[in-house]
Amino acid sequence: METDYLIVGAGFFGAVIANKIASELKKKVLIVEKRDHIGGNCYSKIDEETGIEHHVYGTHIFHTNSKNVFEYLSQFTEFNSYYHQVLTTHNDRVYQMPINLETINSFYGVNLKPFEVDDFLAEEKAKEQYPKPKNLEEKAISLIGRPLYEAFIKGYTQKQWQKDPSELPASIINRLPVRNNYDESYFNNGRYQGIPLDGYTAIFERMLDHELITVKTSTDYFSIKDKITVNEKTIYSGPIDLYFNYTHGHLDWRSVRFERVVSPYKDFQGTSVMNFADESPAYTRIHEPRHLHPERNYTESQSLLFYEYSETNPEEPYYPVNNQENKVKLERYQELAKKEEKVLFGGRLGTYSYYDMDQVIGQALSLFETQIKS
Ligand code: FAD
Ligand code: UDP
Repeated sequence: METDYLIVGAGFFGAVIANKIASELKKKVLIVEKRDHIGGNCYSKIDEETGIEHHVYGTHIFHTNSKNVFEYLSQFTEFNSYYHQVLTTHNDRVYQMPINLETINSFYGVNLKPFEVDDFLAEEKAKEQYPKPKNLEEKAISLIGRPLYEAFIKGYTQKQWQKDPSELPASIINRLPVRNNYDESYFNNGRYQGIPLDGYTAIFERMLDHELITVKTSTDYFSIKDKITVNEKTIYSGPIDLYFNYTHGHLDWRSVRFERVVSPYKDFQGTSVMNFADESPAYTRIHEPRHLHPERNYTESQSLLFYEYSETNPEEPYYPVNNQENKVKLERYQELAKKEEKVLFGGRLGTYSYYDMDQVIGQALSLFETQIKS
């Protein structure tokens, strides 16, 4: 078989590039996907029993500050008005997350004003000082002090990463803002935010619906690569270490497992995502996807729930573990990648990066302009 471009992976990275090549360069694209569906980790589908749409690989909220990415994606979908807020349960009480003034006031039983928070927390923070935090624990304590860290970060992080926070890089916690006001929005970059009106999968169907694009699902790149003649380039969004046959060893990934439960209550927890901050229960969060589509007015009397557990499963790589050991391995793989003249690497697996959807879309758009189109 012959194609101009071969794309590995039908997630956002692969689908955006496939669409751009077909629609702008008018070249033939073959996209191979080893799963039996398109959409990568953003794949969404309707649950047959409850009729509720859910995100098979975990709740996905589109959010970005990039007008460019938002406008690009808006060619393929409209978004609903969903606005992401997260709650967390600690010692059987529910608090707002990320930590904000409501969380701090409820936790300490005080009624601070925004301008009083820094002085209030300074007393706790002074007990342990980390001017140059070396890991997630030190970083979190230097931001909020030990009591808030132990209540809301320590157990959750330990469950989620299956590692003590003192062994994890400080950078992970940078994703989570701490606020001295009552702003309870989960994302700092939430200027454009929502859930696609017809779900994520419909976006991929529209992106890939082009006469020059051929999609082959349930097809592993490594089983077909020798049978395909690629005239231009291969764009690879699978795991970078696998591409090089683990020459420099395996890059570590954290994985998650979801347990599906049908609740007899129409509304089980009143929100789409409830975190569990303590070491017990063993699950990190409960997802209730009916709340992602308030505009749909689901009439079902039951609700669909997914209990999320962290696990190590190399077959399902979800989150890169960005410690020093993996960084060194990654640099070696990046050196090898540079030498592959006819292959471009990208996406969260191809770059071993903790990317949100908007970052992956941005990366794909920019790679197209700089390394494919020109
Ligand atoms: P993927 O979507 O993983 O696509 C890569 C595809 O390549 C996969 O389908 C894979 O099967 C395929 N593939 C791999 N190897 C091969 C091979 N050998 N042959 C053929 N195909 C192959 N981002 C947000 O913006 N908001 C969120 O709320 C959010 N929530 C998330 C929650 C979870 C639990 C996780 C894990 C991620 C979340 N993300 C979120 C991030 C988001 O999922 C990613 O940014 C996005 O899916 C990355 O797209 P991608 O194309 O790079 O990778
Ligand atoms: N985190 C936490 N408690 C929470 C939520 C998050 O300790 O209730 C920490 C945890 O270490 C996590 C990091 O903050 O890995 C980033 O959180 P985010 O929700 O962005 O992670 P994601 O679920 O997207 O991996």
